[in-house]
Amino acid sequence: MADLLKSLVLMLIVSVSVSLFVSQWDINFWVTFLFVTILQIVGWKVFTYYSQLGIIKKAQEIEEEAVKNIGKQEIAVPCASCGHENVQLVELNGVNTFLCEACDVKNAIYINIETAAMTVPADEIREAKR
Ligand SMILES: [Zn+2]
Repeated sequence: MADLLKSLVLMLIVSVSVSLFVSQWDINFWVTFLFVTILQIVGWKVFTYYSQLGIIKKAQEIEEEAVKNIGKQEIAVPCASCGHENVQLVELNGVNTFLCEACDVKNAIYINIETAAMTVPADEIREAKR
């Protein structure tokens, strides 16, 4: 409420000042006052519209970035040249390369997927036989 009052007072001050200034050249005070007031309201509406558009666009960009990062996993991988551990984001469905922080050598990350047969713990087998 205080903010609204402050904006209103500021708007009136601007309108009065401009109208007083322009009235030096025999231009009607109230016509200028009305014109400047409307201009400020319209200008403010346009400004808030475009700043909201900017906020929405920014939010969409953040969301897109988040979606892109969902398929990535951060892991520490050693440099093939010097062995320095580099923390990298790895994508399962993409080509993964990085420049070593320590020696600047370009590395490729190869993902090797292994499978293993799962065994059942002995005490679970005993439980099942009962
Ligand atoms: Zn290195």
